[in-house]
Amino acid sequence: MRITDVSTIKLRYPVPTPMADAIHYMPERAVLLVQVATDDGLVGLGECAAYGGSLDSMERIVLDDLKPSLIGEDPFQVERLWSRMARRSHQRGTAGMLMQAISGVDIALWDLIGQATRTPLYRLLGGYRDTLDAYASAGFYASDKGPAQLAEEVGAYAERGFRTVKMKVGRNPEVMLNPLPDMWAPDYATATLEDDIERVRAARAAIGPKVRLAIDANNAWTPAVAVQFMRRVTDQDIYWLEEPVATDDLAGSADVARALDVPVAGYETATGLVSFRELIARRAVDIVQPDVIWTGGITLCRKVAALAEAYGLPVIPHVFSSAVASIANMHFIAALPNAGLLEFDQNPNPLRSTLFEEPIDVRPDGTVRLPGRPGLGVTLNQATVDRYRVP
Ligand SMILES: [Mg+2]
Repeated sequence: MRITDVSTIKLRYPVPTPMADAIHYMPERAVLLVQVATDDGLVGLGECAAYGGSLDSMERIVLDDLKPSLIGEDPFQVERLWSRMARRSHQRGTAGMLMQAISGVDIALWDLIGQATRTPLYRLLGGYRDTLDAYASAGFYASDKGPAQLAEEVGAYAERGFRTVKMKVGRNPEVMLNPLPDMWAPDYATATLEDDIERVRAARAAIGPKVRLAIDANNAWTPAVAVQFMRRVTDQDIYWLEEPVATDDLAGSADVARALDVPVAGYETATGLVSFRELIARRAVDIVQPDVIWTGGITLCRKVAALAEAYGLPVIPHVFSSAVASIANMHFIAALPNAGLLEFDQNPNPLRSTLFEEPIDVRPDGTVRLPGRPGLGVTLNQATVDRYRVP
């Protein structure tokens, strides 16, 4: 089997109400899919994270920088192709956008291997489990969304059977060194630290004591602010604190992790193996959060997961994009002994809920089952692609 083509699909969904986390303003969901075709007639599917910039720039890396290393090659040599893509482009940097671009191609190669061997990908990777616990990733900032609206939102997830809910904190303009003033729409739906404490209390009250509550600061805080905040919510039984500080503040994150009883989770914004080696080895995180569409594909994320396992740490991947990101991370998680929890974005997004012929459903007990079909086990819904495709 030889690779004959690499192509992309750009999708864009303008969200009805813009949403925001601590520092990012999201008026739309933008998705770059990658398809790798072979002379056998099989087509592998992947996605490149395209956060924080244009779809076109990411598409150019895939088509101009990576595609020439793939044409005529054997997808089963995915490890070798990964190395070639990374090494031939290393003067462009060894992390960031290059890793995001490689991620999408790598997922498509693994999908091809699964299809060619007629094996579901998670079983090909080791098949540790076939069911995952989904957690409701939600509680974003939005205009006219106070603690009461937040409570109503997260309470509904608990009622639907989710056993873990995550909400946003940190959109605090008064916090020193918060990157927010430099970001898009910095005045949108902001909150003070006091407001955030009230939001956390409202969410906890709404979901009750039995549902776990995680909070995500998306790199907004300094170590001191993170520790102070967590002391103010010690009675709220927080399950984890995600990305409390800047991704490259390893020492600061390690300080926070040492100071708190609550585990520190992160860092979705890190890319490449070396970044995660440092996060893990320096004890900057207690929970490791790579993302197969962002960190470096399934090939690299498995190495991150093995590193985490060696340090006795769980892996709870970041998952926040299209249905391709969901299904690819699901296969990755299902194959790991030190994982099992799936981030399930609850914001309305047809690129997640209607992108496949086979929807990914959270069952009434809050679990999600892996498909038994070969590879990723999904088929693109052409009507959804046509509706949201951008030239
Ligand atoms: Mg996060």
